[in-house]
Amino acid sequence: MSRIMKYAIGIDLGGTSLRVALVSEEGEIVRKIKKSSAEEVFPSLLETIEEVKHGDIIGIGLGVAGIVDRGKGRVFSSPNLHAVEGIDLVAGIQRKFNVPVYIENDANVATLGEKLCGAGKNFQNFVLLTLGTGIGGGVIYKGELLDVSAELGHMSINADAEKCPCGNIGCLENYASARAMIAKAVAMLEKGTESMLKECCKGSIYKITPEDIYNAALEGDTLSREILREAGRALGVGLANLINIFSPEAIILAGGLAGAWSIYVQEAIKEASRRAFKDLFDAVKIIPSSLRDEAGVVGAASLVFMEIAKSNPPRS
Ligand SMILES: [Zn+2]
Repeated sequence: MSRIMKYAIGIDLGGTSLRVALVSEEGEIVRKIKKSSAEEVFPSLLETIEEVKHGDIIGIGLGVAGIVDRGKGRVFSSPNLHAVEGIDLVAGIQRKFNVPVYIENDANVATLGEKLCGAGKNFQNFVLLTLGTGIGGGVIYKGELLDVSAELGHMSINADAEKCPCGNIGCLENYASARAMIAKAVAMLEKGTESMLKECCKGSIYKITPEDIYNAALEGDTLSREILREAGRALGVGLANLINIFSPEAIILAGGLAGAWSIYVQEAIKEASRRAFKDLFDAVKIIPSSLRDEAGVVGAASLVFMEIAKSNPPRS
């Protein structure tokens, strides 16, 4: 008799986008929707779950940018997504869909996704960084997700600098995130620096995206190349710190900015090689995520499968 496949909904709620997917217990995505997380986050979340849901599901897993209170099913603090702070996310979703709902930090669920069926499958110790609007992180130690906040993007790499939305000063994400790159591009263009970026977005420099910067850099635009190199050097400082602290087998880079590998990430690897302990640097593989922007939804759904397996251990 063939076994009946189980399905769960995985949600990845980040600073810019909301992704919701129906995922099988083997980690396969059956259907998915991506929207902006800019406005009316919670009603839009419920509506999107309704659109993706198809047939019976055994639960819903939610990965959210910020520090998560799993017990209360809420987000304490989310520097890039203030709209979700203090909302009873888990209780609200549970009330509407009447299935178990689990919550976790978004980078932690992406890490779980890569461990279960992505680039981290064969590593027992690795660090994952999500490089997007902000920078998040997760750590797999001895094969398990390390149960810590892992706000790796908020390690300070400059003691005397500008303030980060989290309250700290000189955080990695102030220098190496998409938000940082865009802020730098806008500031330089406002000063009158010549660049191809002036021509993009129908002349509205406030709509520049990291893709615009990367594409202009590939075409040889000096300002764009400099922005990516500078952000890459900052990322390299962060990588060196992570290598020295965790001595991981791998660092997996996920999120939209990991696509800018040839300039941004290469620069980061070069910088990390200058700073980290040589033996530790030589032992680490710095690689891209294989699930890419699907790591979050797959990992969030796997929270459900893991929790349900824990409460129904197989009979021996
Ligand atoms: Zn910070």
